[in-house]
Amino acid sequence: MKAYPVAPPWQGIKLELMEDTHLDPHLPAPELRRELGERIAEAAFNRYPNPAAPALKDMMRKTLGIDAKYEIMLGAGSDEVITIISQATIAGGGTVVSLEPSFSVFKNAATAVAGRYVGVSLNADFTLNVDALIATIEREQPKLVWIVYPNNPTGNLFPDADIERVIKAAPGLVVIDEAYEAFAGRSWLPRLSEFPNVVLMRTLSKIGLAGIRLGYAIGAPEWINEFNKVRGPFNVGVLQQVATEVMLKHFHVLKSHANLMVQERDRLFNALKAMPDVTPFPSAANFVLARFADSAAVFEALKSRGILVRNLYALHPLMQNTLRLSAGTPDENRQLIDALKELTN
Ligand SMILES: *Cc1c(COP(=O)(O)O)cnc(C)c1O
Repeated sequence: MKAYPVAPPWQGIKLELMEDTHLDPHLPAPELRRELGERIAEAAFNRYPNPAAPALKDMMRKTLGIDAKYEIMLGAGSDEVITIISQATIAGGGTVVSLEPSFSVFKNAATAVAGRYVGVSLNADFTLNVDALIATIEREQPKLVWIVYPNNPTGNLFPDADIERVIKAAPGLVVIDEAYEAFAGRSWLPRLSEFPNVVLMRTLSKIGLAGIRLGYAIGAPEWINEFNKVRGPFNVGVLQQVATEVMLKHFHVLKSHANLMVQERDRLFNALKAMPDVTPFPSAANFVLARFADSAAVFEALKSRGILVRNLYALHPLMQNTLRLSAGTPDENRQLIDALKELTN
């Protein structure tokens, strides 16, 4: 196995992990800072957290529009939710199917619980080869299928009709990972109850709260009750719970940043499109994947100008010469675009 690669701390412009850089280095509103400080100071540090997290889940239902008929499972980021779902479904030899290139954590989580991992390649233009995926599902009979919507690192949304075919072909659980839902403006949540074998996974990481570590699954109680059997009962601490509650109370701040990132993503895409020998791929997330003549050279040259992005050449053969660029603030993106213009001329 290879550990998920994480770059050392970076002092310059960091457009590597789709963080909300509008919140750097400080929370903006003084009243929000005060409220956060007070609520954290009042938290019961000496007690184990309430595993049901009722106040936080209420706030999530209200803010994020999650209906009472669904149960919510919280995790320390969706990373932990992925581990829990893998443990609950494929531990000890069950098969999981995921697309490639996609989020590499799915494979590591499967391997760690001795699950059998089968990857299905996307087409060269990163579209979904739905017939190949369905043929694999029919042959392998997986207990678990992961679909990222929109996909990371390619940024595209696979067609709903194709996903529906996949859901119907799958003999077990299908998890739709909606980590970038805030930027895509599309979700399977309104239709979730139509599909008894589907659970949604989301995170607050890409909308400003990556450091808090809060991801979640939304699904029928029957699924979540099974996941809860393997979840550590106190996996989400009091600080995470309280801080997330306060931040969700001020959700409009995060939402406005998400809207700005969408604008910046489009601006970045258009700027890349105008550069010679650069091919950006359309994205519904808060990043743009682009192919360069020599991505390693561009990566290093950006780095020497203080800008860190993600070089994905090692992830998958289809990722050759690609870089993934998170949409930052307008100022960060201006510097990124200016540097790229110089480098690609
Ligand atoms: C970023 C990301 C996650 C979120 O990870 P967290 O552990 O919640 O920070 C999950 N899935 C995908 C596809 C992602 O890109």
